[in-house]
Amino acid sequence: SLTAKNIHLSFGSNHVLRGIDLHVPQGTTASVIGPSGSGKSTLLRVMNRLIEPDQGDILLDGKSVLKDNPDELRRRIGMVFQQFNLFPHKTVAENVTLALRKLRGMSKDQAREEALAQLDLVGLKHIADVRPANLSGGQQQRVAIARALAMKPEVMFFDEATSALDPELVKGVLALMTDLAKGGMTMVVVTHEMGFSRNVSDTVTFMDAGVVVESGPPEELFTSPRTERLQGFLSDVL
Ligand code: ATP
Ligand code: MG
Repeated sequence: SLTAKNIHLSFGSNHVLRGIDLHVPQGTTASVIGPSGSGKSTLLRVMNRLIEPDQGDILLDGKSVLKDNPDELRRRIGMVFQQFNLFPHKTVAENVTLALRKLRGMSKDQAREEALAQLDLVGLKHIADVRPANLSGGQQQRVAIARALAMKPEVMFFDEATSALDPELVKGVLALMTDLAKGGMTMVVVTHEMGFSRNVSDTVTFMDAGVVVESGPPEELFTSPRTERLQGFLSDVL
């Protein structure tokens, strides 16, 4: 499980996270929704320690990780962003093998074998030796997912992973994320895709202005939102 407890974070005088609690049991998917600027991306970045919180704790399997080396946590959490952040001058396979070689210390052959296995899982083994620029956005995002999965993370974070994609390419990436969720991966998914949030995630957390306004099972939040803020948000996005 992954737990964030009473997380506070300010950028200067901007108090961006104001006491966030989030609990993601092993093998479940938590979706995080909310308006622009509500702090969703910042929360993910605090939870994998790209930013240190001013207050609060982060626990992986019940154990605080804040005293460990941050690199250790980032190895345990895979992250996929809106911009795929692939290295343009490397091939698809090289994009996947890079971290395996550097962080996992694998030999060239070992890393290549592992990369091909992961690319096969996301349906892209046949384009292993192509450069990212020659791929569709959806394929590039699936490479980014394969790259994260190759590190055998315990948890996967997705931050608007489909927001930069052309509409016809969104489906393939969501299908892969759905497979991962159903396969028992522990995931935190920041998304504007209300269909995914409603139909795939186990819990939905609605953030606004740095606080969790409502959190619970999707059927509850989507069918009977308790607060005016969530009602307003849903009527805007649905
Ligand atoms: P969106 O849906 O647009 O991605 P978000 O919910 O992910 O929004 P964040 O990106 O977490 O929102 O931003 C929350 C607040 O923190 C905003 O006011 C933003 O301007 C501020 N912020 C985020 N990153 C930084 C930073 N590195 N330095 C200063 N302020 C920041
Ligand atoms: Mg964001």
